[in-house]
Amino acid sequence: MPIDPRQPYDDANIFARILRGEIPCNKVYEDDFALAFHDIAPQAPVHVLVIPKGPYVSWDDFSAHAPADLIAGYVRAVGHVARELGLVDPGYRLLANIGVDGGQEVPHLHIHLFGGAPLGRMIS
Ligand code: C5P
Repeated sequence: MPIDPRQPYDDANIFARILRGEIPCNKVYEDDFALAFHDIAPQAPVHVLVIPKGPYVSWDDFSAHAPADLIAGYVRAVGHVARELGLVDPGYRLLANIGVDGGQEVPHLHIHLFGGAPLGRMIS
């Protein structure tokens, strides 16, 4: 079920548990601000999730309330992962599902990074 974006951050959500090392992930990259790992149910030849190291559910909350160094570090991490995975040319797609209408299932902000094949014009 999509989550209700108004609920408070749930420390027991699966990505919080991955960040704490309680659940393994197939890590691609990690720094002080972000963790990137392969999605367990890939929708493209490359499907990586990049999550910020902070208790944020939505982009609007994150962009309004996260410290500037975390926002900058997170944005840089997404670009770094795209470069490291060799996706810059011929390109890739970034997607963030937010809230109920966005179809967000895990209540910890994450950007999907898709690539490795022509992705068409679909938005989901
Ligand atoms: O954007 P949304 O919240 O719908 O996406 C959650 C994503 O997290 C899904 O693509 C799902 O496959 C992925 N996931 C994962 N590892 C988990 C649980 C979910 O990669 N342990």
